[in-house]
Amino acid sequence: MRNTGQCPKCGCGVILLIQTVASVGEGLYAAQLAVVASAEFGVRAAGDLAAYCCRGCGYVEHYVRDPATVTVDGQRVVELVRPPRAPYR
Ligand SMILES: [Zn+2]
Repeated sequence: MRNTGQCPKCGCGVILLIQTVASVGEGLYAAQLAVVASAEFGVRAAGDLAAYCCRGCGYVEHYVRDPATVTVDGQRVVELVRPPRAPYR
């Protein structure tokens, strides 16, 4: 939806951009991607979330605002990189 401006589920072309996703717990706070750091250190925040919501059906996509800041440790956060395509013959 972010790139196409169209809902992949229902085809609606009206999308709501939620600049800061909020969560309600004890108080109101900005929702974050949470990563389990370890059993000892618990959960740590890894990035503020933005959301795109289809006005027609309510389908939602979440995005980390600054994915470059998410720490890759190879265990709990693994970076998957698609190999380059072989040259077309
Ligand atoms: Zn939709």
